[in-house]
Amino acid sequence: MRDFSQDHHWLSINTATVRKSSGRDLPLPQIIEACAARGIRAISPWRDQVHAAGLDVVSGLVKQHGLQLSGYCRGGMFPAADAAGLRAALDDNRRALDEACELGAACLVLVVGALPGALDGRAAHKDIARARAQVKDGIAALLEHARAQGMPLAIEPLHPMYAADRACVNTLAQALDLCEALDPRPPGSAETPALGVAVDVYHTWWDPLLEQGIARAGRAQRILAFHVCDWLTPTRDLLNDRGMMGDGVIDIPRIRSWVEAAGFTGFSEVEIFSTQDWWLRPHDEVLDTCIARHRSAV
Ligand code: ZN
Repeated sequence: MRDFSQDHHWLSINTATVRKSSGRDLPLPQIIEACAARGIRAISPWRDQVHAAGLDVVSGLVKQHGLQLSGYCRGGMFPAADAAGLRAALDDNRRALDEACELGAACLVLVVGALPGALDGRAAHKDIARARAQVKDGIAALLEHARAQGMPLAIEPLHPMYAADRACVNTLAQALDLCEALDPRPPGSAETPALGVAVDVYHTWWDPLLEQGIARAGRAQRILAFHVCDWLTPTRDLLNDRGMMGDGVIDIPRIRSWVEAAGFTGFSEVEIFSTQDWWLRPHDEVLDTCIARHRSAV
């Protein structure tokens, strides 16, 4: 396993981690400057932050600082209540994919969606199997565009607590089943697949089949991204109470050892949503803590 204790060469900052500084919105250009000033080599920005700053501006800053993008957040949200909604979701995903290309991202991360309307508290139906079928169809349709553009898609399985509203793909095994159905390839293929997975320790740490799932993903080089934060006890909010690495109960180094044994050699991306703690602190403190914990707890 790579030694992270001496430097932060393989640290990436998911820009949601510092989307607020001392409780106030922090624009993406300032986030980029603060990362570059610390020798952080990679980021993974969110679309809303990119749109607020302007795609051209962000693209220019990324190039100016020689930053890499460990991913682009995010595409997905495929299910819809009607045909028009399905078409709109696919169109939006194509735009996200084009933006990921413009920014030179390693992959477009997919949070696949779930029951239409549930995110707003009004699920259109209770048929999660239908939602899962729409996810499969949506990824299949987007894959054509992704292959043409050479932009890999990374399915991110989310913790089952999000199965109703954010993602009905909830385990690594389920994500890999989709990969193998939609993008079959012989074991041992060396090149990057068109369809792979993002392994986020927050979403997957509890899974008794995680180690074997990571090994299965590795056999086809499907691990496109590795996200870290920590699981706090108690967790006070289902979405926005993620912990800094080392503050919770996830054995992150163990999971990283599995991911690297499976052949992953990319960035370790810190992704923390934290309304009650880290988003209230100055972003300089948050980034410095990310660097320190990347060395000591990842
Ligand atoms: Zn993630």
